Amino acid sequence: MVSYLIRNAQILDGAAPQDIHIADGVIKAIGAGLEAAADIDIDAHGLVVLPGLVDLHTHLREPGREDAETVLTGTQAAARGGFTAVHAMANTFPVADTAGVVEQVWRLGQESGYCDVQPVGAVTVGLEGKQLAELGAMHDSAAGVRVFSDDGKCVDDAVIMRRALEYVKAFDGVVAQHAQEPRLTEGAQMNEGQVSGELGLGGWPAVAEESIIARDVLLAAHVGSRLHVCHVSTAGSVEIIRWAKAKGWDVTAEVTPHHLLLTDELVRSYDPVYKVNPPLRTAADVMALRKALADGTIDAVATDHAPHPAEDKDCEWAVAAMGMVGLETALSVVQQTMVETGLLKWEGVADRMSHRPARIGRLSGHGRPVSVGEPANLVLFDPAYRGTVNPDSFATRSRNSPYRGLDLPGRVHATFLRGVATVLAGELAERGGLA
Ligand SMILES: [Zn+2]
Repeated sequence: MVSYLIRNAQILDGAAPQDIHIADGVIKAIGAGLEAAADIDIDAHGLVVLPGLVDLHTHLREPGREDAETVLTGTQAAARGGFTAVHAMANTFPVADTAGVVEQVWRLGQESGYCDVQPVGAVTVGLEGKQLAELGAMHDSAAGVRVFSDDGKCVDDAVIMRRALEYVKAFDGVVAQHAQEPRLTEGAQMNEGQVSGELGLGGWPAVAEESIIARDVLLAAHVGSRLHVCHVSTAGSVEIIRWAKAKGWDVTAEVTPHHLLLTDELVRSYDPVYKVNPPLRTAADVMALRKALADGTIDAVATDHAPHPAEDKDCEWAVAAMGMVGLETALSVVQQTMVETGLLKWEGVADRMSHRPARIGRLSGHGRPVSVGEPANLVLFDPAYRGTVNPDSFATRSRNSPYRGLDLPGRVHATFLRGVATVLAGELAERGGLA
C-alpha cells in the first residue's frame, strides 16, 4: 500500500502548518518537520486539510438511469469534490425498497473504490406512500441501512410517517423527509412569490415545506424518534427547526449549496438548469439559511446532487426535469457563501460537511478528527485557487450545473479514502491504482 507524507498543511484554523504521514490506511503521525519514509511526498503549502466530506443526499441513478449517472461516475464526481462517503437516495429503477436493491448499490460502491456508498432505503414500497417498505430487512442486509427516505416524494400520510419513525427506533435509524405537502404544490414550477407572479409560473409556496416540517417534528417528538429534514429551503422552516431543537427533540436538518447561493430571480432566464425541488427561494431565505448553518440550527450541507441527461434539461421550462449536479462544486460554494463571508471557519466547514453528516448517518469510519490513529479519510483543499466552473470537465455523467461560467473559489487538490488517493494534484486516480 502506497504511503504519503503531506508537508506543511493547515489542519486547524490559525495554527502552524503540520506534516501528516499516511500509511496502511491510517494517519500514522502528525507533527512539524516529520522524519518519515513515504512513497509519495506532497507539498501542501497553502492547502487546508479537512476530514473526508460526507454527503447525506446524493442521487447516483443506478440502477435504472445509467444514462444520467452510474455508481462509478457518481463516486468519481464525489471524490473530485472531496467526499469519502455519500448516501445514495432510493429513487432508482427499481426503487431501493428491498434488501436486494440496497445490497446491489452498496456492492457497486465497494467495487468503485472512489468513495463509500451508503444506500438510503425507501420508507414506503415503490415510494408510493401507502405501505412501509422492508425497513428491518434493509437494515439487516450487508448494506446496513440506517437512513430511510422517499426523497423526491414526501411521506405525506401522517400515520405512515408515524409508523416509520416508530419502526426505525429499534435500530437507531432516522427518517429523512422530503418536506412537500403534495396538494399545496400541485403544478408547482418555482417558488411562489413575486417572481412567479410576474412570470405566470405555478408557485411552490414556503408553507408547503413548513407545514410538513412542523407536523413531522411533532410526530418525532411524540414517538421519541430521530427525524432528519432534507434540503431546507425557507426562513420559516429554519424557525420551526430552531424551535424543535430548543425543545430538545432529536431533529436534524440539511441545506444544499444551491440554496445557500442562488435565488428565484434566476428563473427569469427560463433556463431549466435552475429548476430544482425544493425551488430556489428569495434572497431573504438564502440569508436565513446561511445564518442557520452558521449557528448550527441546520446541521449539515448536503448536495442533493441530481444528474439529468441533456434531453431532460434542454427543453421548455415546464417539462424539464428538476435537479442539478453539485458534488464537484459543493465545497467551493460553501467557501464562497460561508467562509469568505466570515460565517464559518474551516473547522466549522469540517463539522457541517463531515462530522455532523457522518453522525446523522451513523457512519462510524467517517467524520473523524484529523488525528493519529484515525482512518486516513482526508481532503486537501486549495482555498486560494480561482477559476471558472466548466461542467464539461466534470466526472459526473451529466452536465446540469447551475454554476457554468461562474467564478467560484477553491479546488480539491487531493482526496484520500482510507489512505488511498482517489484524487491527486486535482486529477482522478486510475481505477487500477486503487487498493
Ligand atoms: Zn428531495
